[in-house]
Amino acid sequence: MQKEVALVGVPIDHNSSFLQGPALAPNRIREAIWRESTNMWSETGVDLSAAGVWTDAGDIQFGSMDRAAVSEAIRTHTKTLIGEGRRVLSLGGDHSVSYPLIDAHAQNYDGLNILHIDAHADLYEDFDDNPFSHASPFARLMETGRISRLLQLGIRTLNGHQREVAAKHGVEIIGMKDWDDATDIGFDGPVYMSIDLDGLDPAFAPGVSHHEPGGFSTRQVLNLIHNFKGALVGADIVELNPHRDINGMTAMVAARFAKEIIARLHKGA
Ligand code: MN
Ligand code: MN
Repeated sequence: MQKEVALVGVPIDHNSSFLQGPALAPNRIREAIWRESTNMWSETGVDLSAAGVWTDAGDIQFGSMDRAAVSEAIRTHTKTLIGEGRRVLSLGGDHSVSYPLIDAHAQNYDGLNILHIDAHADLYEDFDDNPFSHASPFARLMETGRISRLLQLGIRTLNGHQREVAAKHGVEIIGMKDWDDATDIGFDGPVYMSIDLDGLDPAFAPGVSHHEPGGFSTRQVLNLIHNFKGALVGADIVELNPHRDINGMTAMVAARFAKEIIARLHKGA
């Protein structure tokens, strides 16, 4: 069923463990979406300038920067957008925003699956004494018991601790070294897609805080967005750090992903 997509910015980076910057990302990605060097069609043939496809719902506003309060504000705002009958594409922000974003979806969509692209598993039980750290969102999500499957792709930094947490929660990981483009990726039921831009090789996406060589190409991620089997119900694109970007090229990669995701979210397939 077709639905309108709400694009929402989440300008938060106080849970980053290494560098600040992703709070500036939503507006850089918006500018790239509208850049006159390109057009508003998805590769799949959806006209993103047509009425009813998507609207920009602006940035989430925060009354307090307390970590727990920020997380709750993101969860509440996302539930409201879903309750209005829209599908939500969020622009981070660091990856900490995905815990409340995805939890809001899991509370609405029974049996939610997650397709997670990242250089990092983000499964720390605890990192720098911050339960909301961008190193921990998927540990928090698995603790809720509301996630059906978590499939992680692009991973190339797994340590012993995160291997244990992954095993404890039954997280499925296909490490980058084992990736095969012919792999069929599919889910039964609703799917949320979370894209950490450092899942790409830094050659394709230099504007991130944590450079991890040996990642996906832009085309490999586009192929995943287009081709995985399942009903896409929500998504986020996180960890763009404009301070590290070169000529806005990583913002342009994020904008291309946003356009393809909006097109698929709109169709709900
Ligand atoms: Mn991440
Ligand atoms: Mn990462």
